[in-house]
Amino acid sequence: MRKKIVAGNWKMNTLPAEGVELAKGVARGKGEVCDCVNFIVCPPFTHLSSVIESLKGTGVAVGAQDCATEVKGAYTGEVSAQMIAALGCEYVILGHSERRQYYGETSETLNKKMERAFENNLKPIYCVGENLEEREAERHFDVVKAQIEEVVFNLSEEQFAKLVIAYEPVWAIGTGKTATAEQAEEIHAFIREVLRSKFGAAADDCAILYGGSCKPSNAGEIFSKPNVDGGLIGGAALKADDFLAIGKAF
Ligand code: PEP
Repeated sequence: MRKKIVAGNWKMNTLPAEGVELAKGVARGKGEVCDCVNFIVCPPFTHLSSVIESLKGTGVAVGAQDCATEVKGAYTGEVSAQMIAALGCEYVILGHSERRQYYGETSETLNKKMERAFENNLKPIYCVGENLEEREAERHFDVVKAQIEEVVFNLSEEQFAKLVIAYEPVWAIGTGKTATAEQAEEIHAFIREVLRSKFGAAADDCAILYGGSCKPSNAGEIFSKPNVDGGLIGGAALKADDFLAIGKAF
């Protein structure tokens, strides 16, 4: 039985006090959502500590949005996986398309970040997805396959068992355009097949989330597909009611 996950990527939004309020709102409303849904919130680094404190005992997990490639040392401005883990984070988003696009993250970078995450018992939410040009050229399967082969295929079976994957077509992120439920299912099933070629039956236990303009009005249809195990939510994660309503879509 795969985990159902609704994860909120807050990106560079909310001030610390607003973040705590948002997290508390999620925790307050969680009781109205099926117990089978695992909620994760991923605030900016600056509010990880206060959000984790405010969510203690609520069952809402917390993740960071990134971590450094290096263990520690003279890397001004970086935040290590060890620091994140020491705060009580359970997850870390790696390879988000905004990091790949604006900060030049490559598979090489992401292999290091994966290692750092696992060394510190963090569960990575590894993002893959094609841009518009690649989709229009019908290269999306190749792009996603390469993103998985170059990083996920380097994991041990034990590491793979802790991994969550998020398929996020770049053309659907923050644009209001959503992949159709059929498009999502088609590529999620493909991702699972690629994972199966390396990890066998363990691929059936890996949660694969959809991300890209997912909201209460479309989540139900997307989540109804057999290979969609939840969502990585950007904009709609900034309002507790919307975020919770996405959880209710299961
Ligand atoms: C995201 O960036 O992870 C995302 C899915 O954003 P949005 O829901 O705003 O498209």
